[in-house]
Amino acid sequence: MLNDKVISIVGAGISGLSCALKLAGSKLTKGHTIRIFENGDRTGGRAHSIKVDDFSIDLGAGRFSPALHPNVSKLINELGEKIEVFPFTKIACPHPHHVGLKEILAQLKPKMLSSYNESFFQFLCNHMGNEKSHAIINGLGYDSLYLLQISPKIAYDIIEKHPEIQCFSDNEGYEWFNLVDGFSALVKSLYERAAVLGVEFYFEHKLVNIQTKSNSTLLEFSGCDQQEIWNNSSYTVLALPPTAMSSLNVDFPNSWSDFTYGSIPLFKGFIFFDSPWWQDYNLENKVTIVDNPLRKLYFKSDKYIFFYTDSAYADFWHEETKKGDKEYINTVMRLIGMALNISIKELPRPSSNKFKYWPSGVEFALETYPEHPPVLSKNNGTIIATSDAYTPHCGWMEGGIIAGRNAAEHILKQLEKSGVTEEKMN
Ligand SMILES: Cc1cc2nc3c(=O)[nH]c(=O)nc-3n(C[C@H](O)[C@H](O)[C@H](O)COP(=O)(O)OP(=O)(O)OC[C@H]3O[C@@H](n4cnc5c(N)ncnc54)[C@H](O)[C@@H]3O)c2cc1C
Repeated sequence: MLNDKVISIVGAGISGLSCALKLAGSKLTKGHTIRIFENGDRTGGRAHSIKVDDFSIDLGAGRFSPALHPNVSKLINELGEKIEVFPFTKIACPHPHHVGLKEILAQLKPKMLSSYNESFFQFLCNHMGNEKSHAIINGLGYDSLYLLQISPKIAYDIIEKHPEIQCFSDNEGYEWFNLVDGFSALVKSLYERAAVLGVEFYFEHKLVNIQTKSNSTLLEFSGCDQQEIWNNSSYTVLALPPTAMSSLNVDFPNSWSDFTYGSIPLFKGFIFFDSPWWQDYNLENKVTIVDNPLRKLYFKSDKYIFFYTDSAYADFWHEETKKGDKEYINTVMRLIGMALNISIKELPRPSSNKFKYWPSGVEFALETYPEHPPVLSKNNGTIIATSDAYTPHCGWMEGGIIAGRNAAEHILKQLEKSGVTEEKMN
């Protein structure tokens, strides 16, 4: 795998694919080979949908709002992906804690400007007392809001930018959509586009080691056959989230960044039934936030029910699934019954289910000031790390697209400079 002009991208998530497409579309990379190495056997990373019967479900990323995610929206339009309304912006069976919540949060918001070094939960407790603060976060359904690493600024960002709870902010009217064929369809289109432009893909290649030489970087992969595979590149983009970076031997973040990084586990559980019994309760296309481990419970048209949890309850469900399908489903059904005040005996048994636990579902920089640099780089700018976690859109595909393009721009600028120098020398 030796070639003078190789650009290697590690990670075929939306960041890596966006980087590859921007590079491959530029005349500055003429004569270069662009390669993407991916640990898994598919593209997309945390954007991952699967087919169940004749429809798609998103086990990872599942929705976007054109107002908040213009690059995702533009890409989806350009690629002609089919969209449908993601209807979960109105909460059914409102929680008693929801009464007056929008006003409370609006009144507290200016005060966060004078709150330094305290978490959102501490900030709430200082202003509202412990009991009311628990009630507020329980009513919001995102348990990351309890975490010590979540500052008031990040917490308001979470509240304002999530469809289920944007109604407690000024973003109440934002529209949200999902892809009819799931977000893997978007990723597949990006992959096909990149392949047409000549980008080479190597799946089941896990980066395990990096060595630098004067003008190039040697990348060691463990392949599916466990052989060592070395690749020699003039530019290397590590389109990997901070947790994946930390597991490489590159001293991340210490010798890369002044920032510290955090991550939160996520869990999505999908339950299928022979008939959409929730229609009898007028719950079609509604979401409810509950004070039990299901936290956010969604009733998707006449198709299925799903629940979505983060932080401690994501770990809780991960442990439940280890007890086996029967026990896991019994717990889910008991909690659905409790949430809706229906006896479990009146609920039909599910016909099947799917779930996915993401140990580091969302990754982010803990410091919100100063702004994170668009990319991190080493070795005279020839090794570049990029992730949605480094952008103001951390935790969103929007951030992944921006991150990938930032890394590509960084390389293109260097290629432009070296092209001008070469021309002068000739
Ligand atoms: C449950 C869940 C729900 C979400 N909901 C939404 C949503 O509704 N809307 C939204 O916009 N976003 C959502 N997100 C976030 C979104 O999925 C991510 O922001 C985005 O996919 C990040 O893309 P990425 O390419 O930066 O990282 P990733 O998708 O994590 O891609 C990184 C890739 O690198 C590969 N890799 C890792 N280590 C190595 C190695 N050593 N060698 C080779 N390859 C390696 C991985 O296999 C992976 O394919 C959600 C995420 C999750 C988990």
